[in-house]
Amino acid sequence: MAKKTKKTKTHTTIKATKKTGTVKAARAVKALKAARKPATPVRRPASKPARQSVAKAAAKSAPASVKKYVYAFAGGKAEGDRTMKDILGGKGSGLAEMTNAGLPVPPGFTISTAACNLWYAEGRKLPQRIEDEMMAHVHKLEQAAGATFGSTDNPLLVSVRSGAKFSMPGMMDTILNLGLNDAAVEGLKARTKNGRFAYDSYRRFIQMFGNVVLEIPKDRFEHEFEAVKHAHGARVDTDLGEGGMQETVERYKKLVRHETGKAFPQDPVQQLKMSRDAVFRSWNNQRAIAYRRIYEIPDNIGTAVNVQKMVFGNTGERSATGVGFTRNPATGAKEFFGEFLVNAQGEDVVAGIRTPRPISELADVMPKAYKQLRAFTSRLERHYKDIQDFEFTIENEQLFMLQTRSGKRTGYAAVVIATDFVAEKLLKPVEALLLVEPGALSQLLSPMFDPAEWKKVPVATRGLPASPGAASGQVVFTADQAVAWTDQGKTVLLVRKETAPDDIHGMEVAQGVLTATGGMTSHAAVVGRQMGRPSVVGAGALQIDEKAKTFTVAGQTVKEGDYVSFDGLSGEVKIGKVPTSPSEILQVLAGKLKPEASPIYQRFHTLLGWADKVRTLGIRANADQPDQSELAYAFGARGIGLCRTEHMFFGEGRIEKVQRMILADNEQDRRAALAELLPLQRADFYGVFKAMHGEPVTIRTIDPPLHEFLPKREDLMVEVAKLEATGADPAALASTRTLLRRVEQLHEFNPMLGHRGVRLGITYPEITEMQARAIFEAACQLAKEGFKVTPEVMIPLVGHVKELRDQKIIVNRVAAEVMKQAGVKIKYLVGTMIEVPRGALTADEIAAEAEFFSFGTNDLTQMTFGFSRDDIGKFLGIYQERKILDRDPFQSIDTVGVGQLVAMAVEKGRKTRPGIKLGVCGEHGGDPSSIHFFHKVGLNYVSASPYRVPVARLAAAHAALSVKVGD
Ligand code: PEP
Ligand code: MG
Repeated sequence: MAKKTKKTKTHTTIKATKKTGTVKAARAVKALKAARKPATPVRRPASKPARQSVAKAAAKSAPASVKKYVYAFAGGKAEGDRTMKDILGGKGSGLAEMTNAGLPVPPGFTISTAACNLWYAEGRKLPQRIEDEMMAHVHKLEQAAGATFGSTDNPLLVSVRSGAKFSMPGMMDTILNLGLNDAAVEGLKARTKNGRFAYDSYRRFIQMFGNVVLEIPKDRFEHEFEAVKHAHGARVDTDLGEGGMQETVERYKKLVRHETGKAFPQDPVQQLKMSRDAVFRSWNNQRAIAYRRIYEIPDNIGTAVNVQKMVFGNTGERSATGVGFTRNPATGAKEFFGEFLVNAQGEDVVAGIRTPRPISELADVMPKAYKQLRAFTSRLERHYKDIQDFEFTIENEQLFMLQTRSGKRTGYAAVVIATDFVAEKLLKPVEALLLVEPGALSQLLSPMFDPAEWKKVPVATRGLPASPGAASGQVVFTADQAVAWTDQGKTVLLVRKETAPDDIHGMEVAQGVLTATGGMTSHAAVVGRQMGRPSVVGAGALQIDEKAKTFTVAGQTVKEGDYVSFDGLSGEVKIGKVPTSPSEILQVLAGKLKPEASPIYQRFHTLLGWADKVRTLGIRANADQPDQSELAYAFGARGIGLCRTEHMFFGEGRIEKVQRMILADNEQDRRAALAELLPLQRADFYGVFKAMHGEPVTIRTIDPPLHEFLPKREDLMVEVAKLEATGADPAALASTRTLLRRVEQLHEFNPMLGHRGVRLGITYPEITEMQARAIFEAACQLAKEGFKVTPEVMIPLVGHVKELRDQKIIVNRVAAEVMKQAGVKIKYLVGTMIEVPRGALTADEIAAEAEFFSFGTNDLTQMTFGFSRDDIGKFLGIYQERKILDRDPFQSIDTVGVGQLVAMAVEKGRKTRPGIKLGVCGEHGGDPSSIHFFHKVGLNYVSASPYRVPVARLAAAHAALSVKVGD
């Protein structure tokens, strides 16, 4: 007989969502905001409250009624504050808050997100009154800065930067040095007495403006620049003097005229309007859209635009620019962390073009500015009660703060920081919980290299350890290739000189990201950490040839498809495949490591302990085997929400017995086959009950259509043909033919809507009987041994109360028989899954029989949308692209449609049976945003796969906290 090797895939194992560690900014920030009252600003000007309330009201109302669109920050006073992220964006609200706190922030103004939305609504232009409002702010800024647009004496130069509510690093556009023109450049030269600097700034501006605003490809500018360098015999930019820069400017202006048919705009106001519009436009560029999709950021919130007086980190050796974190964002360690470059502009640090210096060295280079920076940033951390990610510029030894925001961090760091903040009495445990995005906990459970195996392979090179985790896979050199190979089932490592925002889709699927240039705050590092993707950056020894698809290191050449491994915590890179081993936390849970020996386990345990105190939802696990159940219990599940009994049928030596049962053409033979399965199922149930220490265990009777246990029709046909051709084994031929006949009998056009679930139990009652017997015999045996057991027998796919009644009679009869025989009494429940729309619609009738409901949201989603859960991938991408669906409804519950059925069934069920137990066991039970919804509709518990249990515990606490504060 042909063996069935493929596991049932269709309705038993929807793939666990691969969201490991992705920091979903939207939800995390929402939860944080919801849970925390606005803290007192460090310093609040006297007139603040009135302005704040007007602004807040504006932020909350619809765009049409928003009166104010531009908010100033200058001279220690800002019109906005930290509570106004919706309207000012993250950057704008941070600049306002820092200004109010008296920190040295160059003056400027923020054009609101509402203006961006209006710009789109009005056909890509702003109403005149907003243009006027902006111009009034330009004049105010000129006063505050003591400089004038276009002045030959003291020209005002500004930066124009995007800033949405949720940070989207590198996704949108920025323009620096705006305000320069043929006259102002001379003004800048006169004021700084540095002609090279002035013309270099002008050159940079034309290039940035030309590329971002006028959409002239970058390489056209590069080409011109190279030509000038060549003519002057200059090897690098810094070899060019003022004359060279002047020449470059002339060439750039010619290029602009050639490409656009117009002269480079000389009017700073026109430059500003064009740049502002380009930033608005960049909200909808391809990479920003892709980023929003991954992080579930809404498309309709728009970006703010920040216009701010330029300060220069590139005026010479007494100037610098840098970025940093108040703590280590990879490990969470309490250490000042960051990088800087002397004589550079901000973009140089993040672009990964020059390798920056560690921030500790700033203490030697510019001790006064360093001391100030440390003081300001730790003040900001205490003020925001969160790790801060900041940007600064030092112009001629004078420090300016350019940005502060909550720092993105790895899951590992999130747990360390949250527990440290409580130990440092900066936060209470409930507040600290909100610093950890639930999905990020998965990172702590992901594999590490087996230390013994890791040691065997020599280190090829070392890079910066940007995001922890073990990564091993086949090398690819482009993001597209990463996606293509992953689709073919390969595990890949993305290797790039440096990553760009366009690489995001490749980074998402790769096991890890390895780059040759860039620092700890380069794109690959920031995004890698945020995604929870192991990353090693700046591995300078890698000689990458992206065209030839090879790299060389330590005398070896690695081709596309070769295996490479790296450790994102140490930065070590090795050539070859290295096996990985479970995380430290898993090792503690498995008893292989003592809890005392693992500080991260202790923090993880503490944090989840706080979560358990806050949450009201119970947490169970979907598990079918004793070992899975033990793991789930160790992870904190208190009950099994779904034991899919059919999974047990695939165990060693079982499938043949199942097939015999299916092939039986009369009840007697079927019963004989079932009798052989009985002890096996009983033993499994015994193990699962025991692993759960008396907590409830919901066991579902058989669900999938029977053909899933038999070989494929096409395979059998081939086998019959082969056996016929050889004629060597008549017995095998006969049995294969019998099997093929039965497979053909069982063939269904729509098996997911066919002979499955309760329908099987009704047509073959002896299957339900055997399963009920196995459940109660195991339970009675344990009870006799002195263990507590709480069985819950669940009937799947019920759409009509009479279906459930039919099966309940069998279960109750068998339970009574077994208990009588064993001489013990056990409390148990009989209930149903609500996974067919009719089941939800008639939940009041069904509750008359059901003692519990468990929402099977996988099937309920399938049947409510009419989407096949196995085939949605064919069109989901297009649906998301066209914004028909925001997210995969099989991953995150569709609250409007499917959720409505759940809410209705909850209400109807409770009306009939007030004490009815309500849970969910679809994949959504492990999805944080769905958990939020289940909390709101009042379920008693969620059930998730064992590895998602910690995520579910924390998400349930977040849900409880945000609902409590009126979310
Ligand atoms: C469901 O449909 O949500 C469910 C849990 O059952 P299964 O995935 O086994 O169909
Ligand atoms: Mg189902």
